[in-house]
Amino acid sequence: MKQSIEELKQLIDRLEKEHVLSKEEFITLIDNPVPELSEYLFEKARGIRREHYGTDVYLRGLIEFTNYCKNDCYYCGIRRSNRNASRYRLTKDQILACCKEGYGLGYRTFVLQGGEDGYYSDEVLTDIIRDIKIRYPDCALTLSVGERSYESYLAFYEAGADRYLLRHETADQVHYGKLHPPALTLDTRKQCLMELKEIGYQVGSGFMVGSPGQTSGHLAEDLLFLHALQPQMVGIGPFIAHHDTPFAAEENGTADLTLFLLGLIRLMLPAVLLPATTALGTIDPAGRDKGILAGANVVMPNLSPREVRNKYLLYDNKICTGDEAAECRHDIDSRIRSLGYQVVVDRGDFKQITGGKKDVSCEINQSRRIYQP
Ligand code: SAH
Repeated sequence: MKQSIEELKQLIDRLEKEHVLSKEEFITLIDNPVPELSEYLFEKARGIRREHYGTDVYLRGLIEFTNYCKNDCYYCGIRRSNRNASRYRLTKDQILACCKEGYGLGYRTFVLQGGEDGYYSDEVLTDIIRDIKIRYPDCALTLSVGERSYESYLAFYEAGADRYLLRHETADQVHYGKLHPPALTLDTRKQCLMELKEIGYQVGSGFMVGSPGQTSGHLAEDLLFLHALQPQMVGIGPFIAHHDTPFAAEENGTADLTLFLLGLIRLMLPAVLLPATTALGTIDPAGRDKGILAGANVVMPNLSPREVRNKYLLYDNKICTGDEAAECRHDIDSRIRSLGYQVVVDRGDFKQITGGKKDVSCEINQSRRIYQP
């Protein structure tokens, strides 16, 4: 059945009010991302982000510290089977040097992201986490190092890590199996996310838009999964093929659908920290600006050492020099300002406003932390 634009707008009005729709209603919206509807959605999304975060945009300095990975995800350029990837690991000193540079540039969140690399045992990683937090007690530290045991997650948290990014990638079991080898399961992914939440991390999840075999039904399930999880952060970006993966010949996701989903996510999770991602900036040179205008409030420039930036290639043509580099703070600032927003020097923590009162559940959990910087 074809819906009129007015009916579609009513669905968006309801999402704004009730913060959730049925699977069928989400599918209806996702199947009709016509420009008039997108504009209607983005305006509401901007209004809601403004209620929670004003016009502030938070920066995260992304440190891609290893591209070794024991996993073999079919979409990812640093998968184990890619013999053409030139592998690297950063030492603790190199990581600390990235933080030092970032701190000077006004970064107050560092994100340590990498492949699942056994070299960084719990001992090695907790040592790095502790040192970063001792030197930069006013900064938040985010980890994005994949699936680990509860004990590892707890050890990292107690060492001072504040946040954890682990995308669920797709909330549909069968689709999950099309993107990953049998050793990786959606159940384990969900279990990890639950454990991270329980420990007290600010948790981020998310998915790729337009990944091979994805339907609007899958995307609707992704939204409903996020609604159930209630994460503090959500990362989404278009799937982009990497030439040395089984998905080399697959079609890329689009910026338009990614932007539309960003808008829907802002309405569904009003206070969420939502980055305009590198993948969005890769598929469309103006992608990240458009992302901010669709409700995003975070950007994550690359703070990795210049000599390794072109090695952390999850997908083809990843932007990693020039404008992308974290040291171009001035450029980032003026781009964001030209959109009517401003980059702030701030940890940029999750802010939940409930009935005019700030929800402190997150802080209460944080007090369970043993480590004190
Ligand atoms: N090993 C960590 C970090 C993975 S890389 C982890 O498993 O969480 C971070 C994200 O990049 C992934 O979660 C995935 O959603 C995204 N990604 C990987 N390959 C991609 C591709 N070809 N196109 C777009 N995004 C990709």
